[in-house]
Amino acid sequence: MSNLNRIHAVNAVAAMRDPEPAGAMPVKLDYYAEDVFDTAAMREYLPKATAEKLFDTINNGAPLDPAIAADVAHAMKHWAMERGATHFTHWFLPLTGSTAEKHDSFLEIKNGQPIMTFSGKNLIVSEPDASSFPSGGLRSTFEARGYTAWDPTSPAFIKRHANGATLCIPTAFCSYTGEALDKKTPLLRSMQALSSSVKRLMKCFGKPEEKVTITLGPEQEYFLIDKHFYLQRPDLVQTGRTVFGAPPPKHQQLEDHYFGSIKMRILNFMTEVEKELWKLGIPAKTRHNEVAPAQFELAPMFEELNLACDHNMLVMEILREVADRNGLVCLLHEKPFAGVNGSGKHNNWSMAYGNHNLLDPGKDPHQNAIFLTVLTGIITAVDKHSDLLRAAVTGAGNDHRLGANEAPPAIISIYLGDQLADVIAQLEQGSATSSRAGGGAMRLGVDTLPPLPRDATDRNRTSPFAFTGNKFEFRAPGSSQSCAGPNMVLNTIVAEAIDAISDELEKLDPEHFNAGLQQLLSRLIREHKRVIFNGNGYTEEWKAEAARRGLPNAATTMDALRCLTDEANISMFEKYNVFSKRELESRYEVFLEEYHRRIRIEGEIALEIAVGMIRPAIVDAYGKTVSAINSAMEAGITSGVAALREESIELGDGLDELTRNADALRKALGGCHEEILAAMQALRATADRLEQRVADADWPLPKYREMLFLY
Ligand code: ADP
Ligand code: MG
Repeated sequence: MSNLNRIHAVNAVAAMRDPEPAGAMPVKLDYYAEDVFDTAAMREYLPKATAEKLFDTINNGAPLDPAIAADVAHAMKHWAMERGATHFTHWFLPLTGSTAEKHDSFLEIKNGQPIMTFSGKNLIVSEPDASSFPSGGLRSTFEARGYTAWDPTSPAFIKRHANGATLCIPTAFCSYTGEALDKKTPLLRSMQALSSSVKRLMKCFGKPEEKVTITLGPEQEYFLIDKHFYLQRPDLVQTGRTVFGAPPPKHQQLEDHYFGSIKMRILNFMTEVEKELWKLGIPAKTRHNEVAPAQFELAPMFEELNLACDHNMLVMEILREVADRNGLVCLLHEKPFAGVNGSGKHNNWSMAYGNHNLLDPGKDPHQNAIFLTVLTGIITAVDKHSDLLRAAVTGAGNDHRLGANEAPPAIISIYLGDQLADVIAQLEQGSATSSRAGGGAMRLGVDTLPPLPRDATDRNRTSPFAFTGNKFEFRAPGSSQSCAGPNMVLNTIVAEAIDAISDELEKLDPEHFNAGLQQLLSRLIREHKRVIFNGNGYTEEWKAEAARRGLPNAATTMDALRCLTDEANISMFEKYNVFSKRELESRYEVFLEEYHRRIRIEGEIALEIAVGMIRPAIVDAYGKTVSAINSAMEAGITSGVAALREESIELGDGLDELTRNADALRKALGGCHEEILAAMQALRATADRLEQRVADADWPLPKYREMLFLY
C-alpha cells in the first residue's frame, strides 16, 4: 500500500463543478458529513503538525509516517466515542462483491480498570480470521491469514444504530504474501497506473506536472417492493430474483412510470436515504422513478474514483437498511422480474489533470489536441480490450440483462454522437474540420472544436459505452456490482493505450509535434474505429454488423470470463502492477465458482417452490374441478360440465408437465449450469402458464401485478 498514489480529489472535484453565482448567500447543510472523520474533523481533533502530515499523505501521496499513527488513532477514537461509538472495524471489499466488517470494541482491562483504547497499530493493520472469504486458491486454509491495511484516501466514518455506533476504517485486504484478496487493492493500483501514464502524456504536451484525479459518478438503479410480498417469495429471499411469475397485463408498455410523480411512501423512503447518505458525506443528488414499475434511481454527484466506489457500496447498504425500516425491500438484483426492465449501474467516468477535465473538449487549440488524444486513447483501449470490459461486468444476475432488449448489448461498442464521430472521421482522414459549426480544415494544436452539445450526445441509451459531453458512461455494469471491477479495467486499458501514444510522441522532435500527433491519431483511429457505433445497439442488424467487424459478443458469464486467462491480458495487468498472474487466475476461479454456485442455488429454490408450493396448488385446483364435475353429474346437471372438463384437462396436463419438468430440473441439478438454466426455464414456462389457471386466492406466490404496483 505504501507506494500507492494517494489521490485526494475533493478540492479538484469541487473546482470542476459549476460555481455559485457571485454574491449568492450559500445555505449550509449543517449535518453534511457529520459522521465522517473528514478534513474538518482532522483539523479539530489532531495536533496541527500531525494533521499536516496526514494531509500530505492523503493529498500528495506521501508515504504514511508511522509515527503519526498513534496520534491519528487517538483522535479518531475520541471523535468516534463522542458520537456514541464503542467499537471499530476495518471495513473492506472482499471478492464476494459486498462489504465486510469484523467489529472489536475499544475495551481493554488495564490494571483491573476497564478503559477504551485504540492504538496506531489497530488503525493501520488488522488480521481478521478471513479464511472463509473467496481467494481462488491464493490462501490454503492452513495459511489463512489475511491482512487489512488502512486506506487513508477514503475517510473513516461511523455507522450508527439504535444503541450506539461503530467506527469504520476503509481498508485494503491482502494475503500474508501480499496478494490482493479484495476489490480495492487492484483498483488503487490501476489508479496509480493511469495517473502515471497521464502525467507522462501531459509531459509530451509540455504541461507541468499536476495531480491526476479519476472521477466517477455511478447512477444506481433499484426496485422497491413491500416486505410482506417479499417474505412470501422464497426465490426473492434466496436469490434476489423471481424464478417464477407471469408478466402482468400492464407493466411498462404505457411508459408512465419513468420520471412519473413519486408516490408518498417512496418519497419518504428516498428522503430518509438521502439524509443518511448526506450524514456520511455521500453527495446524493438525483432521484426519480425508472422505466419499470417499482423501479427507481439514485445518482450522486461525481467524486474521486476510490471514494466514489466506497460510497456506492454504502449507498447500496443504506438503500437496503432504510427500505427495511420502512416495511419495504430494496432489490438490487439486475433482473428481479422477468419481462420488465432490469437494473444497471451507469458508470460515469472521467479524469482530470489538475482542475481540468481531460474529457472536456476545451476552449483552446492546445486543450483540444489533448482532448482528441485522450479520446483516441480511450477508443484504442476499448477496442483492444472490450473483452476485459465485458468480463468486468459478468455475473449470474447481469447475464439476464445484457443483451436483453432494454439493456446495452453484450457487444461493447462506443457511441460518440454524430458531431464527434464526424470530427473523428475527419481526424482519420488527416485533418478534422469543425463539422457543423462550419469552417475550414482543422489542424491539431491549431484549431478548436465547435462546442459539443451535452444533451444531444446523451440520448443514445442503447450504447454500452457512450461519450456524454465531458465523460464516458459505461452502461453495462449491473446494479448489484461493485464499481471497483469495471473501473479497474478501464483505468488499466486506458493507461496502456495512453502509454503507447506517449511512446510515439516522445520520439517526435518539437517542430514536428503537431504533424506527428495528427498522423499518429489518424492511424489509431483507422485501426480501432470498428468499435465506434452510433446506431441502435438493440437491433439484430447490429449483431450481424458487429460480427462482421470482428467485435466480440460474449453472451454469458462463462464466455466472457475466459479472457482473464489470455496471455496478452495477463501480461498487460502484470506490466501495470494491477494483478500478478496468480492474482488474476485466482479471480477467474472465484468468479466462475460464484457463478456456478448462484445458478445452483436458483435451480434448487426453483425446484423447491415448484414441488412444495406450486404443485400442491395445482393439485387442489384440479381436485376441486374434478369434484365439481362429479357433483354436477350426481345432481344431474349438465351445464358447466363441459367447461369444467376442459379446465380439468388443462390442469391435469399442466400437472403432468410440471411434474415432468420438476423431475428434469432435479436431474439437471446434478449437471452443469447450462442444463440447470434450461430446465429452470422449461419449468417456469409451465408454472407461469398455470398461474393464470388457478384461482387468485389459491396461488401460493404474490404475483407480479401485486408486487410491482401495490405499496
Ligand atoms: P445524465 O447522464 O442523466 O444526463 P449527468 O450527465 O448530469 O446526468 O450526470 C450523470 C452522472 O455523471 C452524475 O453522477 C454526475 O455527477 C456524473 N458526472 C458528471 N460529470 C462527471 C465527470 N467529469 N466525471 C465523472 N462523472 C461525472
Ligand atoms: Mg447519465
